[in-house]
Amino acid sequence: MKELMNVSTIGFDVAVIGAGPAGISCAASLADIGLEVVILDEQANPGGQIYKNIEKVSDACLKILGEDYKAGKPLVQRFRNSKLTYFSGACVWQVNTDGHIFYSKEGNSHEIAARYIVVATGAMERPVPFPGWTLPGVMGAGGANNLIKNGGVKPSGRVVLAGSGPLLLLEAVHLIEMDVEIGAILETTPAVPNLSSLVNLPKALKRIDLLKKGIVMLHKIRKAGIKHYKGIRNLTAKGNDRVESVHAMKADIPLDIDTDLLLVHFGVIPNTAIFRQLECRHQWNDVQRYWFPQCDKWGRTSLDNVFAAGDGCFVHGAVSAALKGELTALAIAADMKMIHEHERDKQCAEIEMRLKLELAPRQFIDAMYSPSQALYKMPTETTICRCECITMAEILEAIDEGCVDPNEIKALLRPGMGPCQGKMCGSVISEIISMHTRKDIREAGSLNIRPPLKNIPLSEIAEIELLTK
Ligand SMILES: Cc1cc2nc3c(=O)[nH]c(=O)nc-3n(C[C@H](O)[C@H](O)[C@H](O)COP(=O)(O)OP(=O)(O)OC[C@H]3O[C@@H](n4cnc5c(N)ncnc54)[C@H](O)[C@@H]3O)c2cc1C
Repeated sequence: MKELMNVSTIGFDVAVIGAGPAGISCAASLADIGLEVVILDEQANPGGQIYKNIEKVSDACLKILGEDYKAGKPLVQRFRNSKLTYFSGACVWQVNTDGHIFYSKEGNSHEIAARYIVVATGAMERPVPFPGWTLPGVMGAGGANNLIKNGGVKPSGRVVLAGSGPLLLLEAVHLIEMDVEIGAILETTPAVPNLSSLVNLPKALKRIDLLKKGIVMLHKIRKAGIKHYKGIRNLTAKGNDRVESVHAMKADIPLDIDTDLLLVHFGVIPNTAIFRQLECRHQWNDVQRYWFPQCDKWGRTSLDNVFAAGDGCFVHGAVSAALKGELTALAIAADMKMIHEHERDKQCAEIEMRLKLELAPRQFIDAMYSPSQALYKMPTETTICRCECITMAEILEAIDEGCVDPNEIKALLRPGMGPCQGKMCGSVISEIISMHTRKDIREAGSLNIRPPLKNIPLSEIAEIELLTK
């Protein structure tokens, strides 16, 4: 791809990738200050994961999705009123350190350039393989939630939810409100909260309103009479051509539940694909077990012209994502001498106060839903790389033969070379290496990410168009 790099035109002051709460608040703030901003997102409309389809959603769905979802309306409205360039349906597949960005839209690829890049690509559901996870009828709870947002699509038949984290419970509540039959909720979270979450409880009580939301969700689940098991392990989806039942162990008691659909969710982790491709420095979060790009309070990464905003730099939720987007905008505006540093710091102090309040319960929630590395102790027949059909047995054999780096395993067996480019198996392989070799995960390392980040035909690359102004 080197020959695609030497174009000197700087098209925009700032390019923001991702039109979720972080990206749209950052882009709108920069545009208000008078900078030339372009924002790209692969989705058809602004809003990101949480506010997906907020402009077109029906009143009936709006009622189900609740106040937290409605909060996206003014944010998106402000974005629509801003003077910026918005490319929807634009899937970014390569970003260069010199500010050049390649994206595909409607079957054509284009190149733009910007002095600053803000990567606000959000989070993704944590991939956790288990036997039967590739069967039709097994899908992410976040994906099912997106179907509600995109058109009020509700599952037919009986649903089982499994995994861990507040979004699993939120999805259960949405399904209850849509009169969907729920067979059971199987949580891997321990029944008794761990010490670390209890230590953080006093701080969390500062946001009693947020904790109350969790209690209300649990109350709705109990009132609906749904069987809710905690501390489950050995999750297995069973069926011939599609999922027919779910098996799990609760202590020594086997649970076997018939189902038409299994929705799984094991929390969310930052989507680091672009940061990895840019070779930004990363750090490891021990509590939530994920990599995140190292950055300062403004979101500036180890590359001076590349900023990270929102859940992509650390999972803190939608309200914090929007605030972090504003902080990034202040830093870039000051760098570009559009505002004075005094003004930047004054506005920053106010945003940081709001951020501090918003983050008060975060350590409690993160510790309560901290994933155990034991999640990755799967039976040997479990498929790990679903694109290339590589099993746990094959990965373990490669490790025993001396491949203790995810990239060596990739070279030997091809996991991470399929259509998802390692999005689903990359973090899992690092966890398996770390467990099997008893090495810290930081030593086990992670898959190198190479462009193109998304699947595009070679013909598109050959016919690339440079977008200049
Ligand atoms: C599937 C899913 C569903 C969720 N649902 C909820 C919910 O209902 N309630 C809740 O409180 N939290 C939810 N979350 C958590 C929520 O995503 C965040 O707290 C919040 O949306 C973070 O905002 P953000 O701006 O950082 O990222 P996001 O809102 O995730 O926005 C990132 C944007 O970047 C775009 N993008 C990513 N990669 C590329 C690329 N290569 N090219 C172009 N565009 C790209 C995406 O299309 C997306 O629009 C969900 C998370 C996930 C993964």
